[in-house]
Amino acid sequence: MPATIIMGGQWGDEGKGKLTDALAANAAMVVRANGGSNAGHTVQTRHGTFKLRLVPSGILNPRVRCVIGAGVVIELATLVGELRALQERGIDTSGMLISDRAHLVLPFHKRLDELEELRREQDEIGTTLNGNGPAYADKASRHGLRVCDLLHPGVLRRKLAIEVDAKNHHLSKVFGAEPIRFEALYSDLLELAEFVRPMVVPTEVVVQDAIEAGERVIVECAQGAMLDIDYGTYPFVTSSSPTAAGACQGAGVAPSQVEAVIGVYKAYSTRVGGGPMPAELLDDTGELIRQRGREWGVNTGRPRRTGWFDAVAARQTSRLSGVTEIAMTLVDVLDVFESIGLCTGYRVGDEVVNHVPALLDDLDGATPELHFVPGWTKDTTEIRAFSALPTQLIQYLSEIETRLGAPVRYVGVGPDREQLIDRRA
Ligand code: GDP
Repeated sequence: MPATIIMGGQWGDEGKGKLTDALAANAAMVVRANGGSNAGHTVQTRHGTFKLRLVPSGILNPRVRCVIGAGVVIELATLVGELRALQERGIDTSGMLISDRAHLVLPFHKRLDELEELRREQDEIGTTLNGNGPAYADKASRHGLRVCDLLHPGVLRRKLAIEVDAKNHHLSKVFGAEPIRFEALYSDLLELAEFVRPMVVPTEVVVQDAIEAGERVIVECAQGAMLDIDYGTYPFVTSSSPTAAGACQGAGVAPSQVEAVIGVYKAYSTRVGGGPMPAELLDDTGELIRQRGREWGVNTGRPRRTGWFDAVAARQTSRLSGVTEIAMTLVDVLDVFESIGLCTGYRVGDEVVNHVPALLDDLDGATPELHFVPGWTKDTTEIRAFSALPTQLIQYLSEIETRLGAPVRYVGVGPDREQLIDRRA
């Protein structure tokens, strides 16, 4: 039974965590493929609300092995804090595995993230300031420290000393900032390393063994494919590839082992931070979507920008990741609208384009071509069968299916585990 990828098809926060948690009930393993502690997944269960940053969203299912893959960047203190907090709430974390190849996010990455953003002033990217961008930059420039280095104090001391030295030079000479103290950082890392040591393995081997044994493996992407470093709205993107291809790479799964790619899309658009968003609604409608969808960042508390469903962006992510099934979430948020907009093209100058242009200036100045469909103006939160959904909603979903070229399989009608309809159930 090969792998299933769960990926966000928009700008993140599509409700991937909830879907992963639900599907994990029938899986042996959930592997997180990319991103760092900038991700925030919310899973709401009978036992309360869990906000996860680095730990895979399968953790609330006791039988599931949860893997942090090689493509993730790990801030150790955050991970250890998250695991301890889960343990205190009675969650069994004994199934956690961490890739020995994953890169570390270190305090100087965080510091540099903040200082770089300040330097960009009005052009700031709106990063979560967690240091992930600088950590991925170090990974690409072959300066990174990895989890495997942590477990060998001699190796850690040698590599860390070189990096602290170089970063302190950068911090003081470029930014006039305080240097990082090596000894304090080194001993903190050694202490944290002891906590994770039993969980560190070559995860790509474990994942491959599971696939070979016919176990069901779910690969979970953080963020959304419109934030992809290659095909997103660069430079307002994340530093990894939250696409199906990136999922394979980050988790250690081969493309030929993937059976299904579930694209998670919310019924409208949201975006956190800077960057173009042609379908953005800056009016009362946008505010109503924000209020109803509780669109504030899980970790940052920042209000998310809102807009109608952007079918141009969604079609791009669906095609580039080969989405085989759509999970349409937060449909209930649109329950009160009499008509619902879909952005079906971008007007750039005199031209209407139906792809996402590379040049930000084109995208920044683009106005949305909107197509309106009738709303259903009915409460959907108690509905549990696809056939019981209002006709207008089924029509809206079918419009999206046509544009994205994939069928809607799951529909989210509320934040709880139970408020998820499987069309095939
Ligand atoms: P993720 O990062 O993709 O997992 O998404 P987030 O957790 O950041 O954001 C999704 C938010 O929407 C969370 O607060 C979820 O509890 C909530 N949510 C997920 N699915 C639904 C749904 O179908 N309806 C409603 N109203 N909320 C949902």
